[in-house]
Amino acid sequence: MRGAFFWILGLAAFAVARAEPILILVSIDGMRWDYLERHAPPNLQQLARDGVQLAQLIPTFPTKTFPNHYTLVTGLRVERHGIVGNEMFDSETGRFFRIGDRVSTLDPKWWGGEPVWNTAGRQGKRTASMFWPGSDVAIGGRQPTYWVPYQNSKPHAERVAQVLAWLALPPAERPVFITLYFSSVDSAGHQFGPLAPETRNALLDVDRHIGDLRRGIAAQGLESEVNLIVLSDHGMAEISPERVVYLDDVLKPRDPAVEFQGPVAGLRLPDEAAIEEYRAKLRRLPHVRVFRTRELPAAFGYANHPRIPDLVVIADDGWEVSTHTARENRKRVSLGNHGFDPGYGSMGATFIAQGPTLRRGVALPAFENVHVYHALCGLIGVDPAPNDGDDRLLRAIRE
Ligand code: AMP
Ligand code: ZN
Ligand code: ZN
Repeated sequence: MRGAFFWILGLAAFAVARAEPILILVSIDGMRWDYLERHAPPNLQQLARDGVQLAQLIPTFPTKTFPNHYTLVTGLRVERHGIVGNEMFDSETGRFFRIGDRVSTLDPKWWGGEPVWNTAGRQGKRTASMFWPGSDVAIGGRQPTYWVPYQNSKPHAERVAQVLAWLALPPAERPVFITLYFSSVDSAGHQFGPLAPETRNALLDVDRHIGDLRRGIAAQGLESEVNLIVLSDHGMAEISPERVVYLDDVLKPRDPAVEFQGPVAGLRLPDEAAIEEYRAKLRRLPHVRVFRTRELPAAFGYANHPRIPDLVVIADDGWEVSTHTARENRKRVSLGNHGFDPGYGSMGATFIAQGPTLRRGVALPAFENVHVYHALCGLIGVDPAPNDGDDRLLRAIRE
């Protein structure tokens, strides 16, 4: 009799463990931490009131889209997952990776670590991705159960409709984890600057679609079965054509050592003597800091990888490092950019979480984004793979 009682209790516990809510992870690319108050998107403000909000989500270095989206879903800093930039040169293979070039981005060799959809898939759970960097790549031979090839122009309403269609699948086919991605706020931020009305309008548009998503969830009677996280990958600094530092003021024009430039410039050099010579020259530039990558603080996680250059020149907040040739050839003036030191106030990202197993009406301090992976795994009930974060964020947001 007692045995039967405990057996039934065990079954009930099993049933409860299986009924982990579905998790939807939404990324609003480039939504700086202060847009929620400054641009006042009503649906996101309501979501924050109904759930948990971090003062900031601190990105990882470099504060670019691909490195940070991949850190969010792996819990790894870039030197451990290998997506060290949006554009990369691998000194071991001699190959280039560029986000506009699908042949390179879809090659699994670039993508290390284990994204959360593979952690879940390995543990028998279904997942779906309405865009996310890496979701269209067979990383370790696996992909989300359902995914869509990246298409920048896909209307926002269709993205939300796809997520709602996945939620409407019969329970046996329904994913337990779904990503959703929007790039328009980042694009407006680059073109018009973080404070511009155009950037606010881009955010208000995405906000309306998030309102539709919430209403769609409620209409399916799934409010008590869906947790929602809305976050971003990095912030956006106001830049200006007046705040540019020129590498060719101290180096020769078109110097082949310069691998990339922008908020951060990277230089690859043949030997120690050259590294010291270039470092001394670059230190004469104003409004920048020059580092040997292997001497950067460990928290940057940007030192030991064949895709990481020897020297980086990090511009002060709102400044950029360029060359006269690059400036002359540029297609249009930008008023916003990111890629800087994650510690700059302008680079802070957004994090809001709401749902049945999350705390309500809580404002929390800043967390680093390496902890997000652990929280995603905890909320869908899978064991995380080894990573650079821990369970601090999960414990802070879960009820
Ligand atoms: P960034 O240069 O760091 O501002 O990168 C932002 C750009 O990344 C966006 O404008 C998107 O078009 C692009 N992007 C985002 N996700 C993907 C993806 N999964 N595949 C290809 N490109 C993407
Ligand atoms: Zn981005
Ligand atoms: Zn961007």
